[in-house]
Order: sequence, then C-alpha cells, then structure tokens
Amino acid sequence: MTPLFDRLDALPPLSPEERQLLDSVRGLARDEIAPRAAHYDRAAEFPWDNVKAINALGLNAMFVPEEYGGADLSYAAYLACVREISAACASTGIIWATNFHAAKPLIDFGGEEQKRRLLPRVAEGALLALAITEPDAGSDATHMTSRFTPDGDSVVVDGGKIFITNGDVADLVLLFGKWSEIALGDHNGRGAITALIVEKGTPGFSVLRKEDKLGHRASSTAALAFDQCRVPRANLLGEPGQGLALLLAALNKSRPSVAAHALGIARAAFADAVAYINERRQSGRRIVEFQGIQFLLADLATDLAMCEAWLWHVAALVDAGVSDIGPEASMLKMRASDLAMRIATDAVQLYGGYGYITNNRVERLLRDAKITQIWEGANQLHRQLIGRSFIART
Ligand SMILES: Cc1cc2nc3c(=O)[nH]c(=O)nc-3n(C[C@H](O)[C@H](O)[C@H](O)COP(=O)(O)OP(=O)(O)OC[C@H]3O[C@@H](n4cnc5c(N)ncnc54)[C@H](O)[C@@H]3O)c2cc1C
Repeated sequence: MTPLFDRLDALPPLSPEERQLLDSVRGLARDEIAPRAAHYDRAAEFPWDNVKAINALGLNAMFVPEEYGGADLSYAAYLACVREISAACASTGIIWATNFHAAKPLIDFGGEEQKRRLLPRVAEGALLALAITEPDAGSDATHMTSRFTPDGDSVVVDGGKIFITNGDVADLVLLFGKWSEIALGDHNGRGAITALIVEKGTPGFSVLRKEDKLGHRASSTAALAFDQCRVPRANLLGEPGQGLALLLAALNKSRPSVAAHALGIARAAFADAVAYINERRQSGRRIVEFQGIQFLLADLATDLAMCEAWLWHVAALVDAGVSDIGPEASMLKMRASDLAMRIATDAVQLYGGYGYITNNRVERLLRDAKITQIWEGANQLHRQLIGRSFIART
C-alpha cells in the first residue's frame, strides 16, 4: 500500500526527543486508550484510567515552560500527540486538548506570580476547562452576561456557562465574563470582557448538570453556575476589559488543536474503511476492487492528505512565532472537521450494514465527528472569518 501517509507523518520537523515521545504516545493510544474507548463511550463514563495514563507519561508538561515545572516542546509535537490520542478515543483527545486550550492563555498572558502558583499544577496533570459559552451567547460570545464585580481583593462572579468540556472535573476553570465597572456601550460590551481563573471548590461555584450527548460520550460537558462566587483578584488574567483580545489570541492556538483532533477521527475512519474493503468481498471481488469505490477513496485520501499538509503548515507558522494566523487557523478547523464528518460518514457507508452496528468503531467515529463542525466556532462562522479577511481596508 502507498506510503503517502507515512511520509506526511514525517513532515513536521520534530526533534529526536519529540519523536520518541510521540512513539510513546502512539503506544499508549494503541495499547491502552483505544481498547477502552468503546466501553467508555457506551457507559458515558469519564475515562479516568486514560487521564491517569496520560499523566503518567507527563503529557501536560509538553505545553508548560520549563521555568514553571514543565518541559515544553514544539506546537507541532503537541498537535501530533492530540491527533494520535484522538484517533484512539476522541473523548480522551478532547479532554487532554482542553487542558492545553485553557492553559495556553495563562502561559501567554499570565502574570509571573500566577504562573509560578498555577502552572506547576498544570504540568503535573491538573485538568482544566475553558468556559465561554452561555445559553444566549454561543457563536457570538460577546453577548455573554456573566458578571465580574470587583470587591476589595476579590472579584465576585455571578452567572452561568453551558456546554463546558471538563467543567465538572476541572481543577482550574478559565472563565470569561464582563467587568461590572466597564460600561457596556456599543458592540455588546465587548470592551468589558475579562478573563478570570476559578479554582475547583470555590464557594458559589457549582455544577448544574452533565449533558447526555450523541458523541464524545466519555468526555464530560457541563453546565456551571456562579452565585456570588468570590475569587481572589490575583486570579484575574490580564487587565479588566482585555478578555476579548486574550480570547481571540487563544483561539488561534486552540483551533488548530481541535483540527488535529478532528483529523485523528478522520484518520481512524479512513484506516478502518480501507482495511475493511480490502477484506470484504461481494460479487466475487474485494469491495476495494470496484472502480466506483476507488473513486470515492481517491477523493477522501486526496483531501485528507492536503488537509494534513496544511496542519503542519499552520504548526510551522505557530512554531516560528507568527501570530496573525486567524484565516489559516479557520481554514484548517473548517476543512479538518468537515472532512472528519465526511470520511466517518463514508466509512459507515463502506462497511454497509455492519457500519451501522455498534461493535464496529466507525459508528462511534461518525457520532464523534459531528461536534467538530460545531465547536470552537461553528463552520459557518469560519467561512465568514475567512471570507472577511479578503476585504481591503479603506
Ligand atoms: C460537546 C460540546 C462541548 C463544548 N465545549 C465547550 C467548552 O469547553 N467551552 C465553551 O465555552 N463552549 C463549549 N461548547 C460550546 C460550543 O462552542 C458552541 O455550541 C458553539 O460555539 C455554537 O454555539 P451555539 O451552540 O449557541 O449555537 P448557535 O450560535 O445558536 O448557532 C446555531 C446555528 O446557527 C449558525 N449561526 C450562528 N450565527 C451565525 C451567523 N452569523 N451566520 C450564519 N450562521 C450562523 C451556527 O453555525 C449554527 O449552525 C461545547 C459544545 C458542545 C456541544
């Protein structure tokens, strides 16, 4: 069989140390995470075994700088690990990736005291959550109404968040709300948006419920409530009103990350489909020998290869310190997630009736793929962001 995907995997310029770690992650994904995925999905149970195994390898440390107890590696190495874990179990992949999504703003914008206090915990394996979405503020997060009121050395939080990955299990929640002393003015009060770190167990912070979902059933998705929740002012990230800028910068790192996660699902579905149609025979021939099926395979493989090459292109930009990568990150997130959905759907089709039965993982991959088109900005939004980037400024 063609080595084209092996060559693509060799594309990111990882150091020998990073390649070694990626090999360990592959082994963990193959030997431990993948075999447990069906059980956790069916039971809709949080995969603590997987989180412990990930922490035994010390994987959170790869995105925490050394001076704060980590052993930071390249962004490309991180994306490669997300893809491997997600191919084995998409739920576990997003749980771990969410640690990165919530920690990155702290790493990039946190004050020295905050980083010394909180990042060693992240490096050691703390779970994190990133809480932006509210019932009436989804695609347009600027409509959020959670309120941060300063009171001496504290900030009092009131409001609620929904659909928060890791929300019920997180040790630290990076929470976005609006600073009460900044006038909302025009533009939905976007200038009041502020970021704050809330620790598990803070009085006034509670978990309202865990959602029952179509896919990613092993990851927890929680509704959170904040009722006169008093948080030390020392946990403010940046200055009051800097939240939106911080959020937009953070999205440029989390969108390629959810794209790598979606590509893990796409890879798994493609691999399963190819293996199956090389075995399954109808009308005296293997399914893969029918030309109509080869045309389908050609289209899927081509788009997957192109998208993976773009993943490494975006990774290289980030590793080179380029920060204005909004359109590139949107293109990657949109295409990777659409592709994950398409390949997972076609994989079920290629399995025929067997694809619809729950003991083949393509069925789970199809359910897991859908949300990738919705979260981190639904793909309609990404089309707008990409299109808008071509408007000449007058
Ligand atoms: C499993 C899961 C995990 C999640 N994890 C997190 C998390 O960890 N943290 C967090 O903060 N959020 C999280 N979310 C929330 C997720 O990011 C939102 O669901 C997403 O942003 C969409 O918002 P919405 O659901 O309110 O949909 P809406 O914004 O109501 O959109 C509904 C539909 O309208 C379309 N639409 C909206 N606006 C426009 C427009 N201007 N033009 C064209 N079409 C438009 C959308 O594309 C979508 O198809 C999660 C959601 C789920 C389901």
